[in-house]
Amino acid sequence: MKNQNMVDPVAKSRVNTLVAFANSTNLLKSSVTATSLGGFWGLYPKKLMKTLKNSKGDAKVNTFIDSMRASSPTRTKSEENQDKTPTWILYHPSALNMFDEIVYNSRGKQIVTFLDYDGTLSPIVADPDKAFMTEKMRATLKDIAMHFPTAIVSGRSLDKVYNFVQLTELYYAGSHGMDIKGPTKSQSHKKNNEAVLFQAASQFLPMINEVYKILVEKTKCVPGATVESNKYCLSVHFRCVDEKNWASLAQKVRSVLKEYPKLRLSQGRKVLEIRPSIEWDKGKALEFLLESLGYDNSNNVFPIYIGDDRTDEDAFKVLRSRGQGIGILVSQIPKETNASYTLQDPSEVCQFLQRLVEWKIKSSHCYKL
Ligand SMILES: [Mg+2]
Repeated sequence: MKNQNMVDPVAKSRVNTLVAFANSTNLLKSSVTATSLGGFWGLYPKKLMKTLKNSKGDAKVNTFIDSMRASSPTRTKSEENQDKTPTWILYHPSALNMFDEIVYNSRGKQIVTFLDYDGTLSPIVADPDKAFMTEKMRATLKDIAMHFPTAIVSGRSLDKVYNFVQLTELYYAGSHGMDIKGPTKSQSHKKNNEAVLFQAASQFLPMINEVYKILVEKTKCVPGATVESNKYCLSVHFRCVDEKNWASLAQKVRSVLKEYPKLRLSQGRKVLEIRPSIEWDKGKALEFLLESLGYDNSNNVFPIYIGDDRTDEDAFKVLRSRGQGIGILVSQIPKETNASYTLQDPSEVCQFLQRLVEWKIKSSHCYKL
């Protein structure tokens, strides 16, 4: 484990530069609290949401709706977000701008890349079945997988995300990491040759299928709402639902789930997620994959996790607590996050991954010389 008390000289100089800049521009306001500097940035804006204090039940529902709005903004840059952007970018800088620092911190370690799919490798589109990634992104992923162990970690079912990506050399963790499969093409990253296969929630399949049918029926009166089965979890998409109907949709979904206490509801970007109440998430999937690759309890690994969603925060938290690697949030607007860096959109993700490949090729060449 990385010594959390040691401050990297590059990180330290960045701290000094940023603090000087923040002082000169009065950006360090009381709404920002500092935590640690141990290789990560721990400065967050205050929570965006407020609980509306009506009756006890209403407060709960309103908080939930506020939370849906916070994770699914309808405007790309509201006035409030424009105010927060300078501070936020200061503490979650662009991974492209900080590329040299990132690779410097990975020196001597094996980089492993973990990538969310929707909103990270592909744009968020109105029809979730048409969230295709570009050929350029596919070619970049192929290159990345050639140089680093690479896993796609998605809320989609394993089969669905594989059909989008169509590369046999990757690891896939579908259903929020509850369904994991290793590469089918032989590759040299893994320390042993055992196949990676893991299904954390198979006993929940009958229940998930039952709830899927009920949700399809209950939500069909909400224009634009769609329910997607992702094998071990369900997604209720509200990308095409008018904001005035979000509360009614959320209430319908919550009323169904009242009968199924073994399932839990969470929110993503324009989506409500239903999954088994088990201690398993994208963070656990990340740990499982690192262990499968032989990097459990290893100091020689530098995981890079890129994602745009609330469910990706579990993985960012794991990296933060391990003191290893970095989390990169894909977002154009300020969001509360445990990630250290940001990228604006899938095209910037593609640029970042291409630079990693170029850097790896160049550094391997230098090493041979
Ligand atoms: Mg996503």
